[in-house]
Amino acid sequence: MLRKLLTFFIAFTTLLSCEKKPEPVDIVVKNISIINLKTGKIRQNQSVFIAADTIYKIQKNADNNITAVKTIDGTGQFLLPGFWDNHVHFRGGDSLIAENKHLLNLYIANGVTTVRDAGGDLTTSVQSWQKDIASGTLMGPTIYTSGPKIDGPDARWAGSLEVSNSEEINRALDSLQALNVDFVKLYDSTISGENYLKTIKNAEKRGMITSGHMPYTVKVDETIEAGIDGIEHLYYVLKGCSTQEQQITEEVKNGSLNFWSSLAQVMKTYSDSTAQNQFDKLIASNVYIIPTLHIGHTLSYLDENNHSKDKYLKYMGKGIQKTYAGRIKSALSASPEFVAMRKKLDSTFVALAGKLNDAKVGLLAGSDSGSYNSYIYPGISLHKELKALVDAGLTPLEALQTSSQNGAKFLKKQLPEIKIGAQADLVILQKNPLQQIENTTAINWVLKNGKALDKKQLKNLLKSE
Ligand SMILES: [Zn+2]
Repeated sequence: MLRKLLTFFIAFTTLLSCEKKPEPVDIVVKNISIINLKTGKIRQNQSVFIAADTIYKIQKNADNNITAVKTIDGTGQFLLPGFWDNHVHFRGGDSLIAENKHLLNLYIANGVTTVRDAGGDLTTSVQSWQKDIASGTLMGPTIYTSGPKIDGPDARWAGSLEVSNSEEINRALDSLQALNVDFVKLYDSTISGENYLKTIKNAEKRGMITSGHMPYTVKVDETIEAGIDGIEHLYYVLKGCSTQEQQITEEVKNGSLNFWSSLAQVMKTYSDSTAQNQFDKLIASNVYIIPTLHIGHTLSYLDENNHSKDKYLKYMGKGIQKTYAGRIKSALSASPEFVAMRKKLDSTFVALAGKLNDAKVGLLAGSDSGSYNSYIYPGISLHKELKALVDAGLTPLEALQTSSQNGAKFLKKQLPEIKIGAQADLVILQKNPLQQIENTTAINWVLKNGKALDKKQLKNLLKSE
């Protein structure tokens, strides 16, 4: 009895003394300007307290009653949610697993704390990294993945689930559900228009999120009606802005045109009123568009630009560098007419991205970085995409919203915000990115999974294995 009383007494006094003792947190960022990405408003002189990987408290000026293991002086700097790259790939077969794993470092080094993996052939590895990143044993971005892509027979990309009838579509979607993927990615190398639309409808019926390319044998309207949630790249929306979409679709179906040979006609028949009509339908069905302007530009100008001195090339594994050869070869062997068409397409896409944004169609910033996509380096390419979006007419705030905010909305995840209880996936910038979008690269700190990495540590990540 006496012992019990004593235990109670100790517990009681400990409780009392605890209240007077400072509350322990892991990290405090003091005197920083917080950027609200919803509104573009900035709150100055804030202190943000982080316990483990969660924002614990935010208040103006410092709270001396809270002590932190680590204090970051945020004076003159800006805090915002970590960047999302909404279109990346992990791929290239088993021999490139280690090099793909290294790419995780490149994302973090550039403040990209979340990526959306739009399909590849390394799903087993990707899922084991997801687990290790979540448990804190591996540094890397949160990965949302589609797993393997869905396409037709003899698909272009290794590891794709090939479907040519309803039974195969069912089986493919069953297997993706068993993998618990975050969305379904469709590709257009060989899939028939009919099976493409069936796959979207079936996936939507199962409550899965869908995104993809679109075979030119179907129309954008049909794709929207089937229920697609996201359209990757601008080739497809552009076709829906043509007054001759119906006719071009028929000609691709009967083989007198193909995807590439139809594009000149698609551009020539662009109409603002047809486009507006298309944009309205995209908005009504809440379809997001992923413009991928930076890769479009890079690949369109491979014949002119020499990338051998690119700062980031040396951080890419030798195996991944080898995969760049394919696109370089096809760019260099293309006819002058094709090269010119591709460059015209590039500027058409820039204009289209601006118009989509003006019309308030939801956009996602995605770099398309990964093996085979020549010179699109993980991490830094997301910043180039943000810059490209601003050059296309978005304000810096709108461009930033296409990264973390729209990325989370598209995948139906918690909106990244700087508020109590939110995940502390954060970046600290030396300069205000709302004034100039290039300031997104002025990264002083990245906070991820309860760890705070300074400039030097981030630089070391680029080189580490
Ligand atoms: Zn891609």
